[in-house]
Formats: sequence, C-alpha cells, structure tokens
Amino acid sequence: MVALHVGLGFGAVAQAHQGDRVEGAVCPTIWADPRPWPSTRRTQRMLDETVAETYVEWALREAPEEEFRLRDEVLSRLPDHVIDAHTHATGPEAFHGFSDYGWTQRRSSFPRWLVTDSGSVSDHLYGDRAVSRLRMPQPQFGYDHRAENAYVRQVADGHNLPALCVLPNDLGYTLTELRSKKYRAVKSYPHYTEPPFRYIVDFFPHEILETCAEQRTPIILHVPRPLPECVHEVTEIARRYPQLPIILAHAGRSQHSDRAYVSALRRCAPHMNVHADSSMVTDTRVLGSVVRELGPSRMLYGSDEPFSLLRYRTVHTKRHGSLAVPAHPYHWEKPDAKRRYGHMATHAPMIHFQSLAALINAIDWNSARTGADPDETIGLVFHDTAARLFKTGEHHE
Ligand SMILES: [Zn+2]
Repeated sequence: MVALHVGLGFGAVAQAHQGDRVEGAVCPTIWADPRPWPSTRRTQRMLDETVAETYVEWALREAPEEEFRLRDEVLSRLPDHVIDAHTHATGPEAFHGFSDYGWTQRRSSFPRWLVTDSGSVSDHLYGDRAVSRLRMPQPQFGYDHRAENAYVRQVADGHNLPALCVLPNDLGYTLTELRSKKYRAVKSYPHYTEPPFRYIVDFFPHEILETCAEQRTPIILHVPRPLPECVHEVTEIARRYPQLPIILAHAGRSQHSDRAYVSALRRCAPHMNVHADSSMVTDTRVLGSVVRELGPSRMLYGSDEPFSLLRYRTVHTKRHGSLAVPAHPYHWEKPDAKRRYGHMATHAPMIHFQSLAALINAIDWNSARTGADPDETIGLVFHDTAARLFKTGEHHE
C-alpha cells in the first residue's frame, strides 16, 4: 500500500502567520457569506459569459508539477469503472445571470456546463478510466431549472445519470417529473433562492421526500448549515422516511473533523439510509471520520465537477476565519486574502486531485485501522454503492 502525500502544502503551513492553518478545500458553496462583497475591477471585467471557457483553459494549461505527481498517484488507485455521484450540467440555455452576491461565490465559476465540456476535461481528470456521472442541474438562483432538467434528461444514457432539480415553488411540476421515473436522484438546494432557505423541509418539502421514499430515489442533500448545526433535521427526516436514501453532499459541509462533527456523524450512524459524498472535501480527517462512523459502504465518491477544476487552498485563519486562496485570478478572489496568503496557493493542485487524494488516504487509514482490504473499499466507494443507490443496472427511458 502506497501512502499518498496529500497536497496540503505543509511547507506553506510553516510560512503561515502564527496560529493560521492551511488545509484542503471545500465546496464552492460551503462558506457562502451572505454579506455582499465589494466588487473589484476584475470582477466587473469577468462578469460575462466566457468565464467557464477561460477557467477550463487555466485548468488544462496551467497545471503545476505537483498536480501531475498527485494525478499519477491517485489515478493508479482508481478502479476501471468509476461512478461520480456529484457532478453538474446546465445545458446551453438555462443560465440567466447571477445576482451581485452570486458572482462573489465560487459556484459562479462555471455558469454553463455541458456534457461536451465535461468530455473535454475527462482525460486529465480520470485518464483511461470509464466514468459514469450523476448529472445534476445547477440548483442555485440564476437558472431556468426546468430547462436544466430537460437538458439532463436529454443527455441521459448509461454514463450520464440524470438528477432532477426540485423547484420548491412549483411542486406540481416537480412531482410530475419525479413520477416520470426518468431521474436517478433528486437535488434541491438552499441557495435556490436569495436569501437562502433556512430549513431542509423548506427546499425538500415532505411531498417530495415522501415520493422519493416510495420510489427509493436518493436525495442529494446540501445541508443549509454545517451538519452539527442541523443534524436534528437530518435525523428526523431519516427516521420518518427509512426507505429514503439520503446522500449528504460535501460530507455534510464541515470545515473540520472536530468533536461536534464526529458527534453529528454518530447521531446519523444508526440511520442506515444516511450516506455522504466526498465532493470538494480535501481534509483527510473529515473523510476519515465519515468512513469510520458511517462505514465505507455509506461513503460515495463525488467530484462536484466542474467546480473541482478550480485550484485554490483553504487557509484557516484565526483573524479572518476560512479563506479560499486561489492559484489563478478567478473573479471571486478576495484581494485581502490574495495579498496576505497568495504565496501559499501558487502551486496548488486542482481541487479534483486534492479531494481524490484525501479520500484515498482516508480509505487507507481506515483499512490500516480495521484490517479491511483497501481495494475492496475503493470498489465500494468509487462504484458499488452508487451503482446500487442510482440503480444503474436497471433500464430507464
Ligand atoms: Zn455541487
């Protein structure tokens, strides 16, 4: 078993300010800050529709050496067939424009994302592996979600598994789509509206949960607050709908594997329908806690493509909290963070590889602890559990 060296920038830690810590990164939405961020001249310049194109170029052309090393290590561990349980696709027409606040968020980085765009980066992300992807619309404010749903349905095939985006303000439409049984999972999102929904049942109403439970259709749950703060909502839904597979996106959005997070996972553990995906989490300890507390058969690999194409480091600071410090001049870059911590992000590998490395490290750590075969666990996490939950063996129209 080869231990991976996660790109956590330990060198950078040494240069950090007293008490600050560099860690892996999280989802573009994890540390959403509801305060408007003052726009910079760069933000103004980048407020156009070529954003995604530019960032894909950076992703493919500006990889640091460290990324190639990490890529070789992680790809050598992947099974022949990977199922990515968390990717997005918008289609060509659905994007209407973000609010000023929306543009300050990392999730504004790829306003349009098509299956063909995904194909153009697949080689770099996965080499020669066969990859099936759950294709979720961008569920946030700024899109025509009906157009996105139509798109993911239109591109559906054996390797593009469509997920339905809930329209919490149009349950009639959502239930009709859901009952068509053309979708492998259902996604809803607190930032569907601005300001965001506060409680899970605001954006996953009971009618939807009940129908998903009847159909055994998994929900991809981006919790409105980090897991320790809303675990009671999660366990209440898990208890009320025991047949409903729940997948906590981004491992429940915790910045740290601290006592509160572990205890929240322990409260979820008796509910066997609660799972977690690894998308955008680059902290091995967070993913290790999930594998330990829920067990490896309830952990799913997810990338959050296209957001996993970004390169940045997350720096935990005493004074400013957690900051994403980008390697490239993305429009959401915060000038203060760049000035103070920019040197730590210069050689940051893509989040895609930071996150894969963290997941494989967590699996190896757990295998060393329990004596389980790491390759078997990798098979579960990267394929088998997703195949079962998304019913990939069954014919869908
Ligand atoms: Zn996502």
